[in-house]
Amino acid sequence: AVPQPSAGTAGISYPMDHFSLDQPTSTKNFLNNQMVESKTDKWIDVNDPATQQVVTRVPETTSEELKAAVDSAQKAFPEWRNTSIIKRQQIMFNLVHLIRKNMDRLAASITLEQGKTFADAKGDVLRGLQVVESCVNIQSLMGESVEVSTDMDTYTMREPLGVVAAIAPFNFPAMIPLWCLPVAVVTGNCLVLKPSERDPGAAMIIAELAKEAGLPAGVFNIVHGTHKTVDFILDEPRIKAISFVGSDKAGEYIYRRGTANGKRVQANLGAKNHGVLMPDANKNHALNALAGAAFGAAGQRCMALSTLVCVGEAKNWLPDLVERAKALKVTGGFEQGADLGPVISPHAKTRIEGLIQSGVDEGAELMLDGRGYKPDKYPKGNWIAPTILGGVRTDMQCYQQEVFGPVLVCLNVDTLDDAIELINNNKYGNGTAIFTQSGATARRFQKDIEAGQVGINVPIPVPLPLFSFTGNKGSILGDLNFYGKGGVQFYTQLKTVTALWKHEDAVATRANVEMPT
Ligand code: NAD
Repeated sequence: AVPQPSAGTAGISYPMDHFSLDQPTSTKNFLNNQMVESKTDKWIDVNDPATQQVVTRVPETTSEELKAAVDSAQKAFPEWRNTSIIKRQQIMFNLVHLIRKNMDRLAASITLEQGKTFADAKGDVLRGLQVVESCVNIQSLMGESVEVSTDMDTYTMREPLGVVAAIAPFNFPAMIPLWCLPVAVVTGNCLVLKPSERDPGAAMIIAELAKEAGLPAGVFNIVHGTHKTVDFILDEPRIKAISFVGSDKAGEYIYRRGTANGKRVQANLGAKNHGVLMPDANKNHALNALAGAAFGAAGQRCMALSTLVCVGEAKNWLPDLVERAKALKVTGGFEQGADLGPVISPHAKTRIEGLIQSGVDEGAELMLDGRGYKPDKYPKGNWIAPTILGGVRTDMQCYQQEVFGPVLVCLNVDTLDDAIELINNNKYGNGTAIFTQSGATARRFQKDIEAGQVGINVPIPVPLPLFSFTGNKGSILGDLNFYGKGGVQFYTQLKTVTALWKHEDAVATRANVEMPT
């Protein structure tokens, strides 16, 4: 029997319906509105990153089951696309309500499987919930029209694509599925989701809530697995579009093979987000914001501020930043007052520690070393406490690679121009932030910086879903962004109708063969 994970001092009860603490149960596929046990003989264990306890096992879904998911989505599509927009809107209202009601349950599942703190896990759910809320606003689905002449109109309609798919990463188990599900279905598509095999629980709860909200059978299906499931999605002709969020390696492969097969693909990839610290910044605000954005979620956010560029005298504030990083509490995500939890896996821990060591070997100054840290209560977790490397150069491995852990690499430059040049030379362009009290400096930075999302005294500038998530450069492949207007465009195609309704009988007696002039 698997020993019981501790509920921590935050007093959270675990989502008991997805696994038993004594006997971990398998995660089901969600096919045709039913939780269905896979017939596979290949299973992947999901471990609690704080304890290594197996909390569930995920199937490498069989070919027949993958096909059944698309069969179900394809069958549901004609009726779903003809379901009135008001009805679809009502289901979104219901889903908003149900996610809010189940916020703690969703967050507990995330903390258990992914490791982030319970408070942060609620943020994961909330940022996804906001996308569902934005889909209640069906105004965004409106087309355009013009009266061409007294008897002729031209108008556009946004039509769904059919069956679409989403492939999600481990770091936001609720938010990323919710970047896709509401937008895909409110526009009339049927979605097949493959959650990350490392933390599928939140997606399964969302499936249950989507059914309860009124989504008809087949409109939303979940299949699990790894490469084989992804290849199936890439090659299945009935799947018309793929949304992907994750690493460069997987994303480049999925984009290439998906588009070669004639599908629309939107792919959000890796990042190296730079924070610029100007010497005129509000010191207290800037240092707190930087520490929070570098180490929150153990640095496993695509918008983590993992790289600090100190301009001029701002470098003198680094010892103060080290003190603030040291004060963060690293422990199990269910513990009261936890600031950051473990990283996702022993493999990730080894990789991150290797990058820290490479920085030291290449001449960086180890200002704070979080390696070797272990909270007494969780000796087996994948722990790395906040780590700060100073004097980093752009040719070092710890700068070149996305670390995706609680590690801040700091570089020094003399001027704002130098900072902008350094950031623009980086291959990624997801987000960036500047800390300054000068409007002119901020304006200049905003204009000249090559990054999709810019924060001015805001460390993680992820926009509300009125906008879209707008990474650029190496952080994105494809032309249409997730959620907001970009999301609606991605999941729809335009049909343009030109209609002639003459009031009088037609008077011409012979056909006209010239183009009208
Ligand atoms: P990942 O690429 O390992 O996994 C993402 C998905 O792709 C999973 O469902 C996985 O099963 C599948 N996958 C993994 N390797 C594959 C391969 N070789 N071929 C086909 N499919 C494969 O990513 P992850 O580790 O889960 O997530 C972390 C990464 O995601 C980081 O690089 C982070 O920056 C990025 N991310 C980006 C954004 C963004 O919006 N730019 C948001 C969140 C995460």
